[in-house]
Amino acid sequence: MASLETSPGGVVVRRISNVYWVRAADLEYACQLRARLRKEQVDVRIGDRVKIAECDDLNLAAVIEQVLPRTRSLPRPPISNVDQIVVVFSADQPVFSPLMVDRFLVLAGMTDIPAALVVNKRDLVSPECLAAMVEPYKAIGYPVVATSARTGALSDLLCDRVSVFAGPSGVGKSSLLNRLDPRLALKAAEVSHRLGRGRHTTTYASLYPVAGGLVADSPGYSHLAFPPFDPQGLAWLYPEMALHASDCRLSDCLHDTEPDCAVKSRARIAPERYESYLRFVQELAAQKRTRQARSQKVESAVKTTGGPQAGKRLVRIDADQRVDSRRTVKQQLAELSTQRAEGAIDEDHLDEFES
Ligand code: GDP
Ligand code: ZN
Repeated sequence: MASLETSPGGVVVRRISNVYWVRAADLEYACQLRARLRKEQVDVRIGDRVKIAECDDLNLAAVIEQVLPRTRSLPRPPISNVDQIVVVFSADQPVFSPLMVDRFLVLAGMTDIPAALVVNKRDLVSPECLAAMVEPYKAIGYPVVATSARTGALSDLLCDRVSVFAGPSGVGKSSLLNRLDPRLALKAAEVSHRLGRGRHTTTYASLYPVAGGLVADSPGYSHLAFPPFDPQGLAWLYPEMALHASDCRLSDCLHDTEPDCAVKSRARIAPERYESYLRFVQELAAQKRTRQARSQKVESAVKTTGGPQAGKRLVRIDADQRVDSRRTVKQQLAELSTQRAEGAIDEDHLDEFES
């Protein structure tokens, strides 16, 4: 058996219950986890780089020996070591919307995974029109590919990378994937259908080898609401604003009407980009106010105990868990009232939960 240092490395590309398929040197091995990893409940995800051992090249079976540290994880669906989010839009049908493009780029930025922009259906617009769409994004450093699923593919963009596609429906994502590998487009349609219906079965994304890289069969994100995020952080996700954001007089400058704003005086921001920025700032600020109002409500429902436990909070609520925690408090109350009805509980304990 090879030692850990010499055992082959691979990437987890598929999972069905406890079997993980690991792609190593152009072969796919069906692997179990080493008992030690199972015991330690090591979480193995699609995209994880792993060391395998006991490779049986005849039956294509092996054992996962070690999971290497992961970077750039996509939270939903969980995929590790994603090199890029390929944001796909169409030049027309549906119409190209810079506001929507910026939303996808910002969402990609929030995951810390680099984004590339693909403008598909180039056959539907004039070259001048196409240039006007893509230039602002090229100018600020995003890799941009203008293409048509009718005539071309995306091989260069995908080569040697792990990619996840994202974008609104109808822009041609399936058509582009279909040109690369018909299996992939079919799977992508299945997965997004399942996500759309909100079924609770655990489905894992898969990675497919195409065009010299690996591509996920699942959309990058299926809903467009921003996660909890401070509006002050938004400018860091606009590369042209980020260049100057640390030179503003106010450290919490929103680059709107504040004095001595280096971003407004020095950054070269396309008017549509600045417009989307201001709209997203408002949206994030509104979300933040809602979260704060909700958490104040929950805080006031939390009581402190008396006696020897004085001052100790019974229900601790983490800022990002408040909605769920509130449900938990409700559930606890419901359970307690059932127990009270059954005479199974001392009445004095109830005020620990009721407010
Ligand atoms: P998805 O929802 O993003 O997966 O989009 P689809 O791949 O289902 O494509 C939506 C429609 O756009 C289909 O009718 C495709 O035939 C059409 N389509 C896709 N790519 C192109 C393209 O490059 N040019 C033109 N003219 N139509 C395209
Ligand atoms: Zn500023």
